[in-house]
Amino acid sequence: MHQRSGSPFKTIAYFSMEVGLDPSVPTYSGGLGILAGDTLRSAADLGLSIAGVTLVYRQGYFRQHLDSQGNQTESPAAWTPEEILEPVEPQVTIAIEGRQVKVRAWRYEIQGLSGHKVPVYFLDTALPENSPWDQTLTDHLYGGDSHYRLCQEVVLGMGGMALISALAPEDRVIYHMNEGHSALLTLSLLESGIQSGGSPAPTEADVEAVRQQCVFTTHTPVPAGHDKFHWDLVSKVLGPERADLLKASNCCFDGSLNMTYLALRFARYINGVAMRHGEISTGMFPDYPIDAITNGVHAVTWTSPSFAALFDRRIPEWRQDNFYLRYAVGISLPEIAATHALAKQAMLAEVERRSGVQLSENVFTIGFARRATTYKRQDLLFSDLDRLRGLARQVGPLQVVYGGKAHPQDEGGKDMIRRVFQATGMLGESVRMVYLENYDMALGKILCAGVDLWLNTPLRPQEASGTSGMKSALNGVPSLSVLDGWWVEGHVEHATGWAIGDDSTNPAEASQDAASLYDKLERVILPLYYGKPEAYAKVRRSAIALNGSFFNTQRMVSQYVTNAYSILEGNGLK
Ligand SMILES: *Cc1c(COP(=O)(O)O)cnc(C)c1O
Repeated sequence: MHQRSGSPFKTIAYFSMEVGLDPSVPTYSGGLGILAGDTLRSAADLGLSIAGVTLVYRQGYFRQHLDSQGNQTESPAAWTPEEILEPVEPQVTIAIEGRQVKVRAWRYEIQGLSGHKVPVYFLDTALPENSPWDQTLTDHLYGGDSHYRLCQEVVLGMGGMALISALAPEDRVIYHMNEGHSALLTLSLLESGIQSGGSPAPTEADVEAVRQQCVFTTHTPVPAGHDKFHWDLVSKVLGPERADLLKASNCCFDGSLNMTYLALRFARYINGVAMRHGEISTGMFPDYPIDAITNGVHAVTWTSPSFAALFDRRIPEWRQDNFYLRYAVGISLPEIAATHALAKQAMLAEVERRSGVQLSENVFTIGFARRATTYKRQDLLFSDLDRLRGLARQVGPLQVVYGGKAHPQDEGGKDMIRRVFQATGMLGESVRMVYLENYDMALGKILCAGVDLWLNTPLRPQEASGTSGMKSALNGVPSLSVLDGWWVEGHVEHATGWAIGDDSTNPAEASQDAASLYDKLERVILPLYYGKPEAYAKVRRSAIALNGSFFNTQRMVSQYVTNAYSILEGNGLK
């Protein structure tokens, strides 16, 4: 964090329950964490004064093991922060259930393109002064029961707040809550405001003062996805006084504290993560003004070595300024095709190394990798095995690479993985499929770049944004996707990829989506791939030029600066 003497300096503290920075730091589970990491990387490139705050999760997310039937078991993915991160002074203390819990932090430093440094603070309660139970609070990402989870959110929100105040007491800080998990930071802000003002209960002015400092990004378009904690639990963990303060602040419904409402109530600026998601969120929370800033990915991180080399030769400005990817239109189609072929070879070699399965370089390859959870419908592709076999036989062969972890408590997600294995057995040689264990950043980068088509089949409107298709686009891999999340914006039929179904307001039946998926493969995509390779290369190129140039975090962070951070400057804005 920048410490500048003299005038208070504006810094952004970016709070996220998970952050994906590096495959060797396993403190993320999926899109939310990847987005946080990419955001901080682009902020470093842009020279922003920003710091990340998250938890250290000494046991990592988990290692995934799949047996021959596709049954998932898990083991810890323990890592040793001491070996990778720098210790930070000072330690801070927070109250949990009346106990004083010590929190220390470890620093990871992101270096931007021109050398600007952005710290990420990993909070850690594994200190000998803490009780054995408190020491485990920063062990597991999304593990344990709601009591454990609430305690973790106290560490993140209130511990993180205490750390930022200790590190930068003079700075004017904007607090960005990436999802509601960190919303208890607003309670800390409220308390410090009330203390300085001297009034016992929060006034509207107290609330407004907190709001002026907070930005909230919501990510979940389904009501069940929002964290709620029963009132008795809140009172037990935070103590009755703090619980009363929350109650007086009007963010408790149906006998529980709703973290999304807490964040909404105390944020000056609120946004969803794609245009469609902004609309859905406005429908869910009509009392709040909800803007939208569409997600992106960190272009340099997610571009394969072969495409990075091509861009360096043809559009060398792309690293510094991702908008230059627009000029991929000037690259010849044979070069695009040859560059993708290199990424495909690298992907197939990795598949073989991990699974022993040798897929063919000449066969059209579909990729599907993301968190295995039911709304993502990993199994939609093989809802009609005969039809799939038939089109592979008649139009052209295809093969599929799968990846994705199910949350340990998500039985629906685990079932879905088993169904992929069953279908793999039933399809045999007619459509070869392979499921790779331990989908993570490293594997994601290879798969998104190396396949010929990135498939996405979420049940509308449950995909807030989705970002893996953006990684593919950067690498000249078109998407075939349901029109949800970012694809509503990124989809230009036959130019950047293809849509499954249409954009009508009624979510389609699964059978309609499946039929549309097969139709597109059979009538449009496979004939193009096998019959008109130049035209397929042209789709690859437009995916880069149209989508790679826009759906990146450099553009996204600039939008946060323009719409979310600068509005808080306080020059008469209401
Ligand atoms: C990019 C990425 C995600 C997010 O992808 P979605 O399309 O949003 O599901 C999840 N996990 C990993 C490892 C990723 O690299």
